[in-house]
Amino acid sequence: MTEQTSPTSLQQKDSTSKQTHFGFETVAADEKAGKVMEVFSSVAYKYDIMNDAMSMGMHRLWKRAFIAKAVLPKGGVALDVAAGSGDIAIGLLNKVNREARVVLTDLNGPMLQEGARRILDEGLLPATADCIQSDGTKLPFADNSFDLLTVAFGIRNFVDVPAGLSEFYRVLKPGGQFMCLEFSKPVIPLLDVVYDAYSFNVIPKMGEMITGDKDSYQYLVESIRRFPDQARFSKWINQAGFSLVRHDNLTGGVVAMHRGYKL
Ligand code: SAM
Repeated sequence: MTEQTSPTSLQQKDSTSKQTHFGFETVAADEKAGKVMEVFSSVAYKYDIMNDAMSMGMHRLWKRAFIAKAVLPKGGVALDVAAGSGDIAIGLLNKVNREARVVLTDLNGPMLQEGARRILDEGLLPATADCIQSDGTKLPFADNSFDLLTVAFGIRNFVDVPAGLSEFYRVLKPGGQFMCLEFSKPVIPLLDVVYDAYSFNVIPKMGEMITGDKDSYQYLVESIRRFPDQARFSKWINQAGFSLVRHDNLTGGVVAMHRGYKL
């Protein structure tokens, strides 16, 4: 696959060969969803602790920067896809003094249960924050339903990323904002070397110590490396129909915040 590969040709290639990637492993496309499900079911109950440990707390700053750029009108409704334990949904609601509604959705039951538990701890009711289990590539919502759609550290796990982007476009209202926070490609010289050494040598071992599951964290590291870089992913967002597509690098491009609008 070259830098020029379009999401459409990627999809055609995948549907013809019925192969995709699970980290560095090549697997049958219909096998990947089950494998991703196993990863997150295995780590769900220690997901928040592990996030703090492996990012050295940085994920909180990345999410704060992301939420700061999100546009959710008072009385509006947002969809947080791959919501997991709910950091983004809770942050969005707090930003607007809880005067909006957020729907949390995730493919994985145990991860979404963590989100539902946190929502209850925050004293939020379903009228303000509702949890609905679904695949981000087949959202059970009508066209033009949401003012804002967010996805943080989730889309790289999708079997079909372009299908997810098209689905996000479909459910956003005209004028709605799409925001994606995802690991990306370091743009500072030598940062990639240090980052690779840390990712491949430290994170799987840390995962083993904290969650007892080294393989899931090996997958997470590999899935980050396989994900398209800032420019290529921006092109995919654009090809899904979004306008005014831009990205901002965080921590030298270790993470990128992507934005686009349905005009
Ligand atoms: N957004 C949360 C955060 O930032 O802390 C959770 C991110 S967690 C790394 C990735 C999440 O993506 C998991 O909860 C996983 O179940 C979810 N996920 C993976 N594939 C998905 C899909 N096809 N549709 C919806 N959610 C998916």
